[in-house]
Amino acid sequence: MHQMTLAEIARGLADKKFSSEELTKVLLARIAQLDPQLNSFISLTEDLALQQAKAADARRANGESGALLGAPIAHKDLFCTQGIRTSCGSKMLDNFKAPYDATVVAKLAAAGAVTLGKTNMDEFAMGSANESSYYGAVKNPWNLEHVPGGSSGGSAAAVAARLLPAATATDTGGSIRQPAAFTNLTGLKPTYGRVSRWGMIAYASSLDQGGPLARTAEDCAILLQGMAGFDTNDSTSIDEPVPDYSASLNTSLQGLRIGVPKEYFSAGLDPRIAELIHTSIKELEKLGAVIKEISLPNMQHAIPAYYVIAPAEASSNLSRFDGVRFGYRCEDPKNLEDLYKRSRGEGFGAEVQRRIMVGAYALSAGYYDAYYLKAQKIRRLVKNDFMAAFNEVDIILGPTTPNPAWKLGAKNSDPVAAYLEDVYTITANLAGLPGLSMPAGFVDGLPVGVQLLAPYFQEGRLLNVAHQYQLNTDWHTRTPTGF
Ligand code: GLN
Repeated sequence: MHQMTLAEIARGLADKKFSSEELTKVLLARIAQLDPQLNSFISLTEDLALQQAKAADARRANGESGALLGAPIAHKDLFCTQGIRTSCGSKMLDNFKAPYDATVVAKLAAAGAVTLGKTNMDEFAMGSANESSYYGAVKNPWNLEHVPGGSSGGSAAAVAARLLPAATATDTGGSIRQPAAFTNLTGLKPTYGRVSRWGMIAYASSLDQGGPLARTAEDCAILLQGMAGFDTNDSTSIDEPVPDYSASLNTSLQGLRIGVPKEYFSAGLDPRIAELIHTSIKELEKLGAVIKEISLPNMQHAIPAYYVIAPAEASSNLSRFDGVRFGYRCEDPKNLEDLYKRSRGEGFGAEVQRRIMVGAYALSAGYYDAYYLKAQKIRRLVKNDFMAAFNEVDIILGPTTPNPAWKLGAKNSDPVAAYLEDVYTITANLAGLPGLSMPAGFVDGLPVGVQLLAPYFQEGRLLNVAHQYQLNTDWHTRTPTGF
C-alpha cells in the first residue's frame, strides 16, 4: 500500500479499494517502524491524522470526490499548524504551538488531505544538508551515511522512503529542488507569489516559496493544485487564476524549445552528472523538443548576491525572536539586554547566528550600499538574463546540483563549500521564477536531478515536460533498498 502515488491513492479511494483510515494506519505504522533510521519527522500527529482520515472517508461516503480527499501528507515544520508544535527545526521554537493554520495547511485540510506529521528541516530553512536542525540530522534513504539535502530534507527523506506519498516543502534558494535531486523525487518551486506565505515562518521573504515534493510530476500537480492561489493575508501573493495543473500534463512536447545554458557545464560540475543531463536532453529530443544553447552571463554572481540578500532579510525576520514574544526564553535574565542576548544566543544554532551577523552587517550604515544595494543590482541582472533567454526558448534545462548527496558532516567545517552547491538553484529564487527537479539517473548509487525552469506562472509547462519525460523513463520509479 505504501508504494502508491497520490494519483493511485486517489483512484483507489474513489474505487473503494481501501479507506483513508486504513491507509493512514498502514503509513503511521510504517513511520513508527522505519523513521528511527531516517529522523525525517519532528512531530507525528496520529490523532489528527486518524480524525482527518475518518472525516475524509465520511465525505466520500456522502458523494464528495477530489484528488486530495483522504490523501496522506506531511508538512515541513515551518508551516504553522494550529495547536501543534511548529519548531522550524530550532530550539528557539521547540515550545511553540502555532495559534493558527498557515494558508497552505488550511487549504490542504479543506481539500481533505490527512496530516501525518511535521517534517524535519534545517534550522529556519538555512542549509542544504538538513544537518543544522536542533532535532538532529536527517539521513538519506539511498545511503544512510549521506545527507538527504536541505532545507526540506525531512519531507524528502520521508517521501523517498515511501513513508508517505507527498509532502509540503519550501524553497528559498533550492530547498525543494535540491533535496528532490538528492533523494530521487520530483519537486516544484512555484513562481514567487503563486503559493501563499501566510503562516509559513519566514527565512528570506522576497525569496521564500512553498511547493510540493512527491515522486512524480503527476503528484506534484495534484499537491500544487491544493496549495496554490491568491491570499489576501499575503501581500505578495498574486491574484492570478490557478490553472488545472493535472489537465496540462498531456500536451505533446513536439517543437518545445529547450534552452541549455553553456555556463551550467563549467568545471564545478561532476562529469558523471553532466553525462546524465545530456542523456535526459536526448530523451526529450526524442519526444520532439528542440535544443538550443543559451547563455546566462550573470550566473557567476548569483551566489554572492544570494548570500547577502538572504541573510539580510533573515536578520530582519528573525529579530522577532527576542525571548519576549515567541519561543525560547533564557533562565533568570538579569535585565532586558541579558534577556535578549542569552535568549537569542541559546535559542539559535550556529548557522542561524552566522547568517544573522552577516545580514545585520550587510544592512548596517556604511555597508548597505557596498553589499545589499550591490546584491540587489545583481539580482536584477540575473532576472534580465532569464527574460532575454525566455525570448528564445520555452524552458531552460540543466543539472539541479553540481554533485550528488555528500557524506554526513563532510561540509560542516566549511559553510562556503555548502553555499557553492546552490549554484544552479538560487538564480530561480533571485528572479522569482518557477523551477522543477526530476530524477535523471544515479551516480555511485546516489540519485541525480535534472532541473527545468520556466517563465512566470508556467508551472503547468514544467509539470507537462516532467510528466512526458516520466512516461518515457523509469528513474522516478526506483525505490531505495530497505524501504
Ligand atoms: N541552501 C540555501 C540556504 O542555505 C537554500 C535554503 C532554502 O532554500 N531554504 O540558504
